[in-house]
Amino acid sequence: MIIIDSDFENGSLDRAIRLGENWYHLKLRPDTWYWFHCRIKGCKGREITFELTCADISYRAPGYEAGKGRWDFGNGIYNRPVVSYDQKKWQRVDFVEKDSTMVGTFRFRHTFTEDEAYICYSHPYTYTDLKSYLQRIKDNPLIKIETLGKTRNGIAQPILTITKNKKNKKLVLLIFREDADEVTTSFAAEGLINHLLDKKDKKVNQILEKYIFKIVPMVSIDGVIVGATYSAGYGYGGFRWHESPAPKEIENIKEATKRWVREGYKMVVAGKIHGGQQLLSDMPKRRPDIIVSEASLRDVLVSTKDKYWNPIARDLAIRPRGYFERYLLDEFGFKICFGTHVQGGEPDDAKKCGKGLAKAIIEYLKIYCD
Ligand SMILES: [Zn+2]
Repeated sequence: MIIIDSDFENGSLDRAIRLGENWYHLKLRPDTWYWFHCRIKGCKGREITFELTCADISYRAPGYEAGKGRWDFGNGIYNRPVVSYDQKKWQRVDFVEKDSTMVGTFRFRHTFTEDEAYICYSHPYTYTDLKSYLQRIKDNPLIKIETLGKTRNGIAQPILTITKNKKNKKLVLLIFREDADEVTTSFAAEGLINHLLDKKDKKVNQILEKYIFKIVPMVSIDGVIVGATYSAGYGYGGFRWHESPAPKEIENIKEATKRWVREGYKMVVAGKIHGGQQLLSDMPKRRPDIIVSEASLRDVLVSTKDKYWNPIARDLAIRPRGYFERYLLDEFGFKICFGTHVQGGEPDDAKKCGKGLAKAIIEYLKIYCD
């Protein structure tokens, strides 16, 4: 007997409807219009066909109607969901296609070699993945891992401090994964952090002598845990920075930032790192953007000819109220802030993208802040 469920961390599915022998419709949860993450038991040796129908969200996101911009990429290897038997090693499913008669409906199939498998829209990166990563780097003398506060659901929100000199007051603040579904962001966070911990890199060493990095590797923790598209249970968090109180994970960052300013830290650059909801092969073309309000910042970040992070500038002088950048401006008069999307065809590409971003930030610091 086949059993399909989503009762695990980051799981996301309303229900599976049996349409026929080895043929199931995956009904998406109401809080996601394209994302799913489920477990299937009893599947060994079977070729199973799954189909799903994407909700129409065109009213708020033109271009994303009926699965467009998400599922509608064809059968290319990078456009397919992934399957795993151990939640560690992921492979693409065998085949995906668009249904020619039902709007927004897509179908994929896979032949399973084990009896229990996980299937996800894209390589998942969960809160547990973050915790095991932090466990691996926690003994590095350059890093200090603390808790910023609890989420609304009582989960600890990590904050990383990276520097060679704890007396440094020049602060670089970076936040990752405001949107729970943007998995590339988390792989890029690892790439960026790994680069900052690279003892052999001369430029990194020079920068860490003078600057202190504060990194929030996962903002929407509750959203990641429940497998929500944006954040969990209290609406989208990314444009609610001006609310009081804002969603708990954002409130934690606001409180910490106020504390750092009181303690005499001087913010020199801040960044929010968003990314793709899936790992795509054509990374540099998909959303290679950087939004900045300060021209010199843009020039340096954009001119970094790194293969994995070479964005096109989208220069918006001022962001609407609600956004991180605008909050820093309104609250602290701080405007050296950027927002960007990171990408990658595989987790390692996204990590390299994060490394490229780290290099760009270091260039900026050397040119403008030394
Ligand atoms: Zn985003």
